[in-house]
Amino acid sequence: MPVIIKGERILDGTGAAPLLDAGVVVEGDTIRHVARLADLPAAAATWETIDLSHYTILPGLIDVHSHLCMDAMGDEWQQMRQPPLDVALRAVKYARICLASGVTTMRTVGERYFIDVAYKQALEDGTFPGPHVLISTRPLIATNGFGDHIGFVADGPEEIRKVVRGNLKAGADWIKVFVTGGGGNTKPSSFQQFYSLDEIRAAVDVAHSFGIRVAAHAHGGPGMRAAIEAGVDTIEHGHYVTDDDVALMAEKGTALVATQTINLFDRGSDRPVAPTLLEHKARVKRIAGQNVKKAREHGVRVTAGTDAMHGLMPVEVEYLVTYGGLTAMEAIVAATKTAAEVCGVEQETGTLEPNKRADIIAVEGNPLEDIRTLQNVRFVMKAGQVLVRSK
Ligand SMILES: [Zn+2]
Repeated sequence: MPVIIKGERILDGTGAAPLLDAGVVVEGDTIRHVARLADLPAAAATWETIDLSHYTILPGLIDVHSHLCMDAMGDEWQQMRQPPLDVALRAVKYARICLASGVTTMRTVGERYFIDVAYKQALEDGTFPGPHVLISTRPLIATNGFGDHIGFVADGPEEIRKVVRGNLKAGADWIKVFVTGGGGNTKPSSFQQFYSLDEIRAAVDVAHSFGIRVAAHAHGGPGMRAAIEAGVDTIEHGHYVTDDDVALMAEKGTALVATQTINLFDRGSDRPVAPTLLEHKARVKRIAGQNVKKAREHGVRVTAGTDAMHGLMPVEVEYLVTYGGLTAMEAIVAATKTAAEVCGVEQETGTLEPNKRADIIAVEGNPLEDIRTLQNVRFVMKAGQVLVRSK
């Protein structure tokens, strides 16, 4: 028997004008119709109703860059020194927080010990609540490279091919390579290149030959350039992209995954964050949103991720507006439809359209008038199951 979710307005994620006094009809885990209530078939009167008629209904948000075993509000290097089981159990807590914030799909870009293989299975089994996940297993780093808190060392094309193959064997949905430096517990190294063009190409060639996409952690400089040239599918962070970089990204079809809350959100002063990391954040803050603006000017697809700022995906969307210059509607599309396309799951999720999976949220207020209302999540349905419902 179908269920009708009634809303004051529906934003379907495609960028189309909102449907007012409308409903989403769900059968099992699938969306059947999205229509004005007046336009539903007569039989609809007998269907079960979920009355969210004071709320705005949207597709579940997609966090395109996160990690479920770390918490970026604190010191991730310290967290990753804990024993594997302690690290793994964090995922249970953070998956729930992310789901409650309206995230129904998440691409996680690297964990230690293949923990993501386990949490993906557990989430699919319903062992604990959380979003659907696309996993990257072992993120590749070069010897002496950035990302040593979660990375797996592989040097030279041969070793890289082997590690990528191992990740694919373990069930990686994506391959992640740390190409440049970044901010962390060592001196900021955003422009340092750690992987050569040849090495990045080796990862891309193996992954693409299996139809698997590649995400490159890259802040800027020659390493980022090499990653784009090598044909990676997404540039993660990309704080320092130049006009030439985005022009090449447009040509190659590379998407930009912006991560703004991790650098811009005010954590308060009591969080244990390394001084070197604060230095990095201050630099990025001074140029906040410029990467997003540049990318869009050149027609590069832009989407976003929290990078383990759990629960802050709605704020990430807000920052696309306040720093990136997107309209509220554009920002919502970036975090739903575009995010699904970039992740390669646009056939399944990302919009409220017939035959898509029923990944649906409702918020109190009108995000088109005030994007911050996206934080007022009152309802989350994942694959047809109501997992969050609050007054
Ligand atoms: Zn990350």
